[in-house]
Amino acid sequence: MGRRYTQINADQTAGHLRLSAFICVPLIWLVAAQVQAAEWKLSVQPAPVPQGGIVFVRLEGGRTPDQPTCEWLGHKYSLYPAGGGYRAALPVDRLQKVGLAALVVRAAGYQQPLATRNLSVVALHTGPIEVIRLTPERMALNQDPRVEEESKRLRQIVRTQSPQQLWKGDFSPPTDQPGHNFGKQRRYLEVARKGRKAAPGWMSYHRGTDFSLPPGTPVPAANAGRVLAAEPFVLPGNAVFLDHGQGLITAYMHLSEIKVKPGDTVSPGQIVGLTGNTGRATGPHLHWALYVQGVSVNPTTVLHLPDLFR
Ligand SMILES: [Zn+2]
Repeated sequence: MGRRYTQINADQTAGHLRLSAFICVPLIWLVAAQVQAAEWKLSVQPAPVPQGGIVFVRLEGGRTPDQPTCEWLGHKYSLYPAGGGYRAALPVDRLQKVGLAALVVRAAGYQQPLATRNLSVVALHTGPIEVIRLTPERMALNQDPRVEEESKRLRQIVRTQSPQQLWKGDFSPPTDQPGHNFGKQRRYLEVARKGRKAAPGWMSYHRGTDFSLPPGTPVPAANAGRVLAAEPFVLPGNAVFLDHGQGLITAYMHLSEIKVKPGDTVSPGQIVGLTGNTGRATGPHLHWALYVQGVSVNPTTVLHLPDLFR
């Protein structure tokens, strides 16, 4: 064997070296990437996850990869640094089809995913359709020329992404009494009035949890955060939106009074407003909503955060 090598001239040797380098360097790089990827531990909770729920993801251990991302239900999300690893809260839309869905974690410099999990999305059972009867005046709010612009602005507000964690521990509900109705199918109809043809109704699902509270009841912040918006809207009425960081936003709607202003830092339990009956409401109550990465999800999901997301 040794003799055969001596017959190879210098040019051939250089060519072989170049070829070997060409083949081996990517191979070494790929193997190294796989080894590093294998060092990572991916934790995911819960499994299965209900429609309107949140998938909490944590990636930890090994060497830190750059810019990890999650592909989930057709969207790509950033993971945020946390305690030497990374984490993300990923939303499941209320209307997401039930069945298996792939969660794929990638990072810059890795051709292959760092990890892949198949998660089961299961149905959220919310009982029979609820009929909501609105006065003609409140039905007409949908046709208000300001609503289209307002919808764009609201979408922008709830998609706010602040990389730093502002929340501290579990979120608290606005009151001890049970809330109800997240994700419930609703049929909106006009209150019958003699001599008047009712406007056509519509169907939608309830994007929040309602609390029946007397008007003027103080409304506490669910957690520490920063005020993104605090103003009158056509449909939500007087509303406050709080940014808790890393894509978690809570909203408080139909208020009679607002007690904070945009840019304010709020502490857990700080009063952000008083309950009321403003906007498209059927009576005094608090509509409490949670948005994760811009998607409305069940607010009760953050009342007991899993350890991997603390
Ligand atoms: Zn509501």
